[in-house]
Amino acid sequence: MESQCVRVNKKDGERTRLELITHGVLNKDLKIKPDGDHILIPVKEVPEGYGNIGYDDFEEVIKEKTPSELLGTSPAFELVGDIAIIDRYESDLLRIADALVKQKKVRTVLYADTPVSGEYRTRTLSYLAGDNKTETVYRENRCRYLLDVSKVYFTPRLATERLRIAGQVKDGGTVVDMFAGIGPFSILIAKRCPNSHVIAIDKNSEAVRYLRENVKLNKLENVEVREGDVREASKGVQDADHVIMNLPHSGFEFLDIAFGMVKKGGLVHFYAISHENDLFGGIIERIKDAAIRCGSGIIPIGKRVVRPYAPYQYNICIDFRVT
Ligand code: SAM
Repeated sequence: MESQCVRVNKKDGERTRLELITHGVLNKDLKIKPDGDHILIPVKEVPEGYGNIGYDDFEEVIKEKTPSELLGTSPAFELVGDIAIIDRYESDLLRIADALVKQKKVRTVLYADTPVSGEYRTRTLSYLAGDNKTETVYRENRCRYLLDVSKVYFTPRLATERLRIAGQVKDGGTVVDMFAGIGPFSILIAKRCPNSHVIAIDKNSEAVRYLRENVKLNKLENVEVREGDVREASKGVQDADHVIMNLPHSGFEFLDIAFGMVKKGGLVHFYAISHENDLFGGIIERIKDAAIRCGSGIIPIGKRVVRPYAPYQYNICIDFRVT
């Protein structure tokens, strides 16, 4: 299709493209193309100050239809790397899978047969479309994670939460991630705080295998990986500045271990599942009781809903200082 265009040196191409976007004149429906040492950028009109203009033929950008556009409804799914996992409440699975696999970023479509369950918080997944695989690389907050979605716990829905916790950690000191999984809290913190010592613990040997891979993938030297039940694997750790307890269904059982590791004045980030009728009060009372049994006290310094979990139930986090 013929369009008016701006001709610029290749080296000035990206700067000019951004300027044209700022002026609101870049024609995003047409593809930018090379012209010897120059590039031709299609525009809807030429703003003042651009001398080298002309007309040329351009290829149209083929816009990918979203799953919602293809289906007429918005299916619930989670995208982990290039694997789309359809929510277990969805029906008409093959039609949804067909729409998802048409997306450029999706290589595989799986279906969550079961909810996350058991000690390792994993779920059963079945294959629906695309490449028949369960391993992928997921990118989040400038970190990369290799994982097998059928063997370990992982959700991209905590990306903002992980950033929020990492934002509370000052560089230096010790951070313990008691239920680290493949390492999304540990690795982000270790990367942002290169002088901190991060101890990442998990009992699922598959999660630990990926955690070790992810430490290498992100070129980190300040993560100490420990495999085993946290009761055993945390032995010898003390005076931690931060302890992360991301085991929302049974974190209470491990509060004594956390109190044993955190220093006075240190912070614990405690996750739980809570009913909307009493989101925080009851949980804070239970933490206070556990603290007293361990000869400690607590001052809650933050409480928030992380995400909805089930009807009337929420995944919440309480940050508390240990006294
Ligand atoms: N923090 C990770 C994340 O955000 O992806 C994983 C959280 S997942 C909810 C909880 C993790 O705790 C699982 O990887 C599970 O294997 C691990 N886990 C459960 N019980 C454990 C225990 N007693 N000791 C150590 N790890 C445990």
